[in-house]
Amino acid sequence: MNETADPIETKRIIIYACSGCSDAGELADRTARTLSQKKRGEMSCLAGIGGRVKSLMVKAEKADHIVAIDGCPLNCARHTLEQAGFQIVHHLELHKLGLRKGSCPPTGERLAIAAQAGAELIQAIENANEAKP
Ligand code: SF4
Repeated sequence: MNETADPIETKRIIIYACSGCSDAGELADRTARTLSQKKRGEMSCLAGIGGRVKSLMVKAEKADHIVAIDGCPLNCARHTLEQAGFQIVHHLELHKLGLRKGSCPPTGERLAIAAQAGAELIQAIENANEAKP
């Protein structure tokens, strides 16, 4: 790898969390941070997409895949990205894991459930990439 390469260029799965104020939003945020720390992708700032901040829009435009993590069925991350013109193919919805807003304080156990689901989603993306001719 080129030592001067921009790290953005080498991380093509970009992860956005709704990062809402509720327990589910916090869990979505911590899930994205965990996946990013484990180098399963790179978390970026959803607020920058909402505000059309140029450098953060460019980062999203350069992504091969965008993963949105939403804490509840309102799907704020997915809607924010779609409003900005990004089609969301990969979507982790915490409520579908049985993690319900208002009753899911982000314990280690819940974070492990959400992070495992996120890792499996990203693994499926990587597997599909490898299967391409
Ligand atoms: S998706 Fe739900 S938890 Fe996340 S920011 Fe929107 S309302 Fe809050």
